[in-house]
Amino acid sequence: KSLRKAIIAGNWKMNKTRPEAKELLEAIKPLVANAEGKIEVIACVPFTNLETAINTTAGSNVKVGAENVHFEKSGAFTGEISADMLTELGVEYVVIGHSERRQYFGETDETVNKRTLAALEAGLKPIVCVGELKWERQCNITEEVIARQIKLDLWDVTAEQVKNVVIAYEPVWAIGTGLTATPDQAQEVCAFIRAQLAKKYDQATADAVTIQYGGSMNAGNAAELLAQPDIDGGLIGGASLKAADFNTIVQAAV
Ligand code: PEP
Repeated sequence: KSLRKAIIAGNWKMNKTRPEAKELLEAIKPLVANAEGKIEVIACVPFTNLETAINTTAGSNVKVGAENVHFEKSGAFTGEISADMLTELGVEYVVIGHSERRQYFGETDETVNKRTLAALEAGLKPIVCVGELKWERQCNITEEVIARQIKLDLWDVTAEQVKNVVIAYEPVWAIGTGLTATPDQAQEVCAFIRAQLAKKYDQATADAVTIQYGGSMNAGNAAELLAQPDIDGGLIGGASLKAADFNTIVQAAV
């Protein structure tokens, strides 16, 4: 675990206007300042908030991420945003393949893979989300689902590149539901993901990849989840919208 950087990332989803974004980040900054040099703290915000977030966090240890990126460099893709557009703003991270994108916007492992490759090529660090549906867990095929996602989502990603990839294990049944995977359940799958990475690359490479848990992580359950040997951080939805709660999770990782 000491080989890896702990990363706590907020995923704001479709929340916050620019003034609200500024207010939340101004509240978060001083709270998490002590995490500097110890863990990475990221706010993944809607596209319209990126510039505000970058200006507001300048000079602080809070980094900024986007919530999606398109895979083509430019062209006739109405409504999409390219990786170069993000890097030009100063964005460092990007969430790719969030379950809400997969569920509501037709995201597939193929497009997740294309977005991941495009992000890496542009110098963005992708936070690639994987996770099983409730019925897949009930049918006892969680490992099959995860193995398939890791294989397809990281297709053609080299060992050198994967060091800049963060994997977020987000069981779909735990996202925004208040249902959290138990620390044991989350650890089991995060360890399985690392084993898949070791198989695809090698153990040293797998040991260097940050794997987050996400799914109703909050101020009350974060410490226990983050104490697990293969859980290197969290991707936080609801609880990232309150500075105090987000900070409690950050402090649990410091
Ligand atoms: C998420 O959106 O990635 C997430 C984990 O949401 P929540 O924390 O609200 O379950």
